[in-house]
This record gives sequence, C-alpha cells and structure tokens, in this order.
Amino acid sequence: MSISNMMELRFLAKAENEALARTAISALLVTADPPLSLITEVRTAVSEAVTNAIVHAYAADQNGYVLLRACMHDDRIELDVEDQGCGIEDIRLAMQPFYTSQPERERTGMGFSLMQSFMDGVTVRSEPGNGTTVSMTKLLGNDAPDIM
Ligand code: ATP
Ligand code: MG
Repeated sequence: MSISNMMELRFLAKAENEALARTAISALLVTADPPLSLITEVRTAVSEAVTNAIVHAYAADQNGYVLLRACMHDDRIELDVEDQGCGIEDIRLAMQPFYTSQPERERTGMGFSLMQSFMDGVTVRSEPGNGTTVSMTKLLGNDAPDIM
C-alpha cells in the first residue's frame, strides 16, 4: 500500500529532546485525523522508546544521536527508533515486564511492556556495541484490541 506521509527526525540523545520527539509524532499523526486515544497511545510508545535511547544507549560524555522515523500508510503507522549506542545483550530479558538494568535510578522496567500494550507490533533489533532499533506498528482503524 502507498505511503501517505513520512517523517525523519534526528536529534542528540539529550533528555530535553524527548519532548521534541513526542510533539513531532503527535503533529504527524494529527494529519491522519485519528481518534485522540490513538495519538496518546502512539505518543506514549514513542516516548518510551526515545527515552530508552536517551538514557540507556549512550554514556554521559558521548554525543550520540537518536533517529525517529515514521511512515504513515492508509491503514497503519510504522515507526523506527534507532540509536548507535551500546546495544542490548539479551533482548528477551530486557523486554520482560519489570526488568531494568537501572533499579537504583528508580526505573520500573515497564518501557517495553508499555510499547507492547499500546502498539500492534513491536520488534527490537540490537547488536551489542552497535546500537538498537525498535520498530513499532499501529493500525489506524478502530479495530485494534481494546487494552485499557
Ligand atoms: P522504565 O522504562 O520503566 O523507566 P527501563 O527503561 O529500565 O525502565 P525498559 O524500557 O523496559 O525499562 O527497558 C528495559 C531494559 O532494556 C533497560 O533497563 C535497558 O537495560 C535496556 N534497554 C532498553 N532500550 C535500550 C537501548 N536503546 N539501548 C540500550 N539498552 C536498552
Ligand atoms: Mg525505559
């Protein structure tokens, strides 16, 4: 199916840029006139993936980038959140609810679980030392399962 809109946003992995990513994805979604709840869900999932890239991928003194790519189709939006950071050693473990490598920083380990519950598909590709790409799909119709 043809692409109806697309966006790429590349920014430094800094905490303040999480709001930038959230605002950009919301503005893009509005162009498809979806229900407000859908915008909220996608924005939350993007926020979790981008926050992960910001807080986990790079060492504090590294000037790393995050790439947010969004592709809108008639029936769905496809998103990639990509970093070139440290990567994830054990993806299955990282995606388990409540798993966090930073319990001392008061993280709850719910980021991937939120992405999975709000989106219709979540795939993680990662190579230790080479970065991580989180790919997510959300159907734009009202036929997505009601998870709230
Ligand atoms: P929370 O999202 O609740 O604040 P969290 O970020 O630790 O906590 P998840 O988002 O579920 O929880 O991520 C689980 C773990 O996966 C992280 O603790 C981290 O070790 C690893 N991880 C996630 N994303 C990345 C990434 N982009 N680069 C490196 N490691 C990552
Ligand atoms: Mg997280």
